[in-house]
Amino acid sequence: MTTLLDTVGKTPLVKLEKLSDKYGANIYAKLEYFNPTSSVKDRIAKYMIEKAEKEGLIQPGDTIIENSSGNTATGLALVAKQKGYNLLIVVRDTLSPDKKRVLEAFGDNVKLIEVDSTIDPSHPESYNNFAQTYANRHKDVWFLNQHDNLDNPETHYMTTGQEIYEQTGGNVDIFIAAVGTGGTLSGIGRALREKIPGVKIYGVDPKGSVFRAAFYNQELPKPQSHFIEGIGNALPTKNLVAQYIDEVIEIKSKQAIDTVYEVLHEEGIIIGPSGGANVWGAIQMAKKHKADKEEDRINIVTTIGDTGYKYTGTLFDKKWVEKATAE
Ligand code: PMP
Repeated sequence: MTTLLDTVGKTPLVKLEKLSDKYGANIYAKLEYFNPTSSVKDRIAKYMIEKAEKEGLIQPGDTIIENSSGNTATGLALVAKQKGYNLLIVVRDTLSPDKKRVLEAFGDNVKLIEVDSTIDPSHPESYNNFAQTYANRHKDVWFLNQHDNLDNPETHYMTTGQEIYEQTGGNVDIFIAAVGTGGTLSGIGRALREKIPGVKIYGVDPKGSVFRAAFYNQELPKPQSHFIEGIGNALPTKNLVAQYIDEVIEIKSKQAIDTVYEVLHEEGIIIGPSGGANVWGAIQMAKKHKADKEEDRINIVTTIGDTGYKYTGTLFDKKWVEKATAE
């Protein structure tokens, strides 16, 4: 019998046929919205909680705390329900009403803590630090810490990366993905580099995020807002492990959002904004290595972190798109 948590992972890897022909390289996308709460984050919720259980760090009845604006929160809520944990989700007071309603609807063992989004990211009570501060002050509260807990990239090293290797038979020239915590990119990067000589691993970072500067050891820019939900960060993370990454390229909100529409128009798939960023990255690589003959094409793999159905109030609202793509 299959349980709900058994359905996490083993997602399909599909060829984006139309885009591959258009840009002269084989572009493959791993569809992470096939996970039970429709995002890549179900993987870390399951893996990291089960690992903490094995290490004796937590047991059912305990409380888990994490800051997340959506996908990690719903992934954790699923696992908390299935296994009997309490969950505290730290959110910014700017969280969209849509997302807030969904998180509140879990009820009972799932509670939201709203923090003031204007607090400086380095402050102990900021959105970035509140969960750690709270866990330090309370007994039986475990901070998952998706940004700096290396069990996040380990999840992708053990699962997503191995799946991509098996699904492609090792025929990968480039893997490219945007960075939210860095877990996806570092974990898959490590798995593929161990097995595929010469594979290149590229990150994508939104303009206004600090990851690209952190990767190249440059002075960190003052974080700026952007419209590609789920990626970028105001502080560097331990989970962006430079050793497994070759380059990090910058993306503007408009490029990610235009690509969401390009994927929809060409392929008919409704992807979220970070998926748009990832496919945009794959297209840049395809343009760079364009082959005239089909047999000479290189193989580029990316992930689609979630579905556009989670963003109907933004991505498919004409006024929002106008604002987000005006640069
Ligand atoms: N896509 C979506 C939809 C996400 O929610 C996230 C994480 N916030 C990412 C991509 C980035 O993944 P990672 O945190 O593993 O870098």
